Amino acid sequence: MSAFESTPEKSHSRSAALFEEAKRYIPGGVNSPVRAFRGVGGNPLFFQGGEGAWLTDEDNNRYIDYVGAWGPLILGHRHPAVIEALQTQLMQGLGYGASTEAEVTIAKTICKLVPSIERVRLVTSGTEATMSAIRVARGFTRRDKIVKFEGCYHGHVDGLLVKAGSGALTLGEPDSLGVPKAYTDLTYVLPSNDADALVAFFEKHGNEIACVIVEPIAGNMNLVPPLPGYLETMRDVCTQYGAVLIFDEVMTGFRVALGGAQSHYKVTPDMTTLGKVIGGGLPVGAFGGRREIMEMVAPMGAVYQAGTLAGSPLAVAAGMAMLTAIQAPGFYESLNARTGTLMNGLEERARAAGIPFTTHSVGGMFGCFFSKEEKVNTFEQVMACNVEQFKKYFHLMLNRGVYLAPSAFEAGFVGAAHGDREIGLTLDAAEQAFNTLERS
Ligand SMILES: *Cc1c(COP(=O)(O)O)cnc(C)c1O
Repeated sequence: MSAFESTPEKSHSRSAALFEEAKRYIPGGVNSPVRAFRGVGGNPLFFQGGEGAWLTDEDNNRYIDYVGAWGPLILGHRHPAVIEALQTQLMQGLGYGASTEAEVTIAKTICKLVPSIERVRLVTSGTEATMSAIRVARGFTRRDKIVKFEGCYHGHVDGLLVKAGSGALTLGEPDSLGVPKAYTDLTYVLPSNDADALVAFFEKHGNEIACVIVEPIAGNMNLVPPLPGYLETMRDVCTQYGAVLIFDEVMTGFRVALGGAQSHYKVTPDMTTLGKVIGGGLPVGAFGGRREIMEMVAPMGAVYQAGTLAGSPLAVAAGMAMLTAIQAPGFYESLNARTGTLMNGLEERARAAGIPFTTHSVGGMFGCFFSKEEKVNTFEQVMACNVEQFKKYFHLMLNRGVYLAPSAFEAGFVGAAHGDREIGLTLDAAEQAFNTLERS
């Protein structure tokens, strides 16, 4: 018996007890479904705190965190600049339901960092951002139908909780009870990463389409980057048929590059939605874009959109501290290098253990696939991955102090707090896990 097989099981008794109690008051015991560990089995962990790249659960186990609150914590937990900005604002006031100078500063910063955004409005979640962007695009084009892609997630907006209908180029079907068929009748779902299907679709329906919404790097079906030419084709057909191109950069914004996926791939959308990183860990979203489109929004235009807590001074303070820190020279080069070291290391160790395994990464975002494909580029290939092997790997890693997203279909996140030590420890844990998998 080798050393790693005798790795003692961590105790999760307090998390388990809290989960039992939570289930008596909260549906499924969680406030967002993926937290429930249904994708990996077992009980979810309850956390008491975080520091840098590390999390501590309620049983005092420590983990290297690759979830980062699902993306926002690009600087790690409790970054001093974010905490200080919050403390200063706390002493000043929590909100006034009126404008503040900080809102002007953050809007100006967003417009500077993402030049396709000429006007921006803050909201309180990514879902709200995509919902509002679509309304604006519809108002601007005076068209109702929208296009989304299989495997992309844009929050729990009614008209976006849609799965592909039977046969290509058909209207979608509700992907959740409670979503009226009438809503999804306005949403076309196209295969992802398929430029030919997109062109064929637009030749038939282009003149009905208000907008195309896409995750420029799909991060909600694990991680699938765009194939060369795919985003460029999307840009071309939208321009040709007068449809608004919306890049949903709620995950990729300030995560893959300072200017988001649009700067990384040099494709300019008409509108962009943001979330996660811009809130610095507090609830913030934003939508913005070309001036003439954004001027459709009330009070300038006739598209209604509003928010009681929008631009919350605390959220803006945290977000601005984050946006300031990530502008440090070399921030993304260093982030990219860390993620690359981790992915190369994982691939090497899987190969040595004889486990079919491949990765993708862009900036501080990564995807790991238990797959025989050299690269996973389509929704079908993602779905064909070995989920059972991932589940075992997840628990082996958890027991070795590495907290991964509890689902085979989520991206992972590296931040500035993941140093050589954390990456080294993660690779050691993975080596043991891969070797254990081989024999199971
Ligand atoms: C997380 C996410 C959303 C939804 O954001 P919430 O803040 O959870 O509502 C929308 N789009 C993408 C691409 C996301 O990753």
